[in-house]
Amino acid sequence: MENRQGNLWQATAQEKVEATPLSTDLSVDIAIIGGGFTGCSAALAAAGSGASTVLLEANTIGHGGSGRNVGLANAGLWLPPDQIVAQMGEDAGHKLIALLGEAPERVFALIEKHGIQCEPVRNGTLHCAHSPAGLNDLQERHRQGNRFGAPLRLLDATETARRTGSTRFHGALFDPRAGTIQPLAYCRGLVRAATQAGARIHDRTTVSGLSHDGDAWVIRANGHHLRAKALLMATNAYHLGIETPFRPQFMSVYYSQFATDPLPHDLRSEILPGGEGCWDTALVMSSFRVDAAGRLIIGGMGNLEGAGSPVHRAWARRKLRTLFPKAGDLPIRHQWQGRIAMTSDHVPKILEFGPNAYACFGYSGRGIGPGTVFGASAAEALLTGDTSNLPIAPVKHHSEQFAALRSAYYEFGATLTHAVK
Ligand SMILES: Cc1cc2nc3c(=O)[nH]c(=O)nc-3n(C[C@H](O)[C@H](O)[C@H](O)COP(=O)(O)OP(=O)(O)OC[C@H]3O[C@@H](n4cnc5c(N)ncnc54)[C@H](O)[C@@H]3O)c2cc1C
Repeated sequence: MENRQGNLWQATAQEKVEATPLSTDLSVDIAIIGGGFTGCSAALAAAGSGASTVLLEANTIGHGGSGRNVGLANAGLWLPPDQIVAQMGEDAGHKLIALLGEAPERVFALIEKHGIQCEPVRNGTLHCAHSPAGLNDLQERHRQGNRFGAPLRLLDATETARRTGSTRFHGALFDPRAGTIQPLAYCRGLVRAATQAGARIHDRTTVSGLSHDGDAWVIRANGHHLRAKALLMATNAYHLGIETPFRPQFMSVYYSQFATDPLPHDLRSEILPGGEGCWDTALVMSSFRVDAAGRLIIGGMGNLEGAGSPVHRAWARRKLRTLFPKAGDLPIRHQWQGRIAMTSDHVPKILEFGPNAYACFGYSGRGIGPGTVFGASAAEALLTGDTSNLPIAPVKHHSEQFAALRSAYYEFGATLTHAVK
């Protein structure tokens, strides 16, 4: 039995955060709840604009999806562009596609500007066809993407094998705009930059209640009261009970990852020599990438803390052997998981739940670029009242039917697929 440790990103993040729990009453321009990509990007933008800013995080920075992520800094959403336009309408769809298409550029520019030590590799991503039907899907995505100005390239099976080091794929869609990062370090780096810009960061500070007294938001945390003119809730899939009539609604989907020991030298030049981040076209999808030390990281849907855990663990080993036979028996040294907040239409939401208050959530598995963009633009809109840079129009209500049941269904589907494959 291998001696497996937890989250790789916690073990290797070069960026450190120095924060303390909230221990006093405060009055600020904007309060942000949640220290993931959304909240940290918002804090950086708000403090950078000169606003007095406080960020409250229940655990430590990056405790949620942002510190458990695969690290694929993608352009756009999961949905192909035509579907986004069909769901949202011409103008709104085009605006969202354009803003999220530029999101990796924004992420990598922030990394450079603030010197964030997060292993950035901007060599693109590969969406790999796991079957002939998957290749048809990629051909359609290629056609649509290029029509919307995305510089995508469709690769044949030979080129895909050369780049990935695996002969299992029928082709791949290459997106040169995207890349990979160490996600927890990116999140911590954003918060370091926000602190340098003047933001107060309080971790180990759970917000337990919210109310509006007609003038400002009153936020209760750690037995203290914080008054804020504007409020951003950035708790996404890790939302902890806050006493307020509103709570973000989404389906939770678990995703697990397994990191090997660093690849031996000869295999590093065979497996992902260019460092592209990859995922496949399967309905129960999987991902793979390497980190800066050359560890191979395989990911797939499934809950490692649930009844299906042995199935998911066995699947990871089989997947490794199938994709990369020469690396198939490398020790798996780290395993961890996270929760993804999915919405039914796979489009993130900005919910205006009170005066001068937004909640951003439901990135549906795409949070690095979108979280960075949504957080910063939400902070700007709350502070200035100008909503023109928001990627989507805020809504007053959002509900999801049978969210718990559908979350259980996703987990059942992942377990069944991993068991029979
Ligand atoms: C395993 C996994 C892999 C993923 N891979 C990718 C990927 O490769 N690329 C990509 O773009 N996206 C990916 N995603 C999605 C992405 O990670 C998320 O969309 C993103 O992290 C959401 O960021 P966030 O800041 O909105 O929320 P989070 O990072 O979840 O942060 C929310 C924070 O709010 C805090 N919080 C909650 N309640 C309270 C409270 N009451 N008081 C104070 N704080 C509170 C939590 O502790 C948490 O730290 C992945 C997600 C998972 C789980």
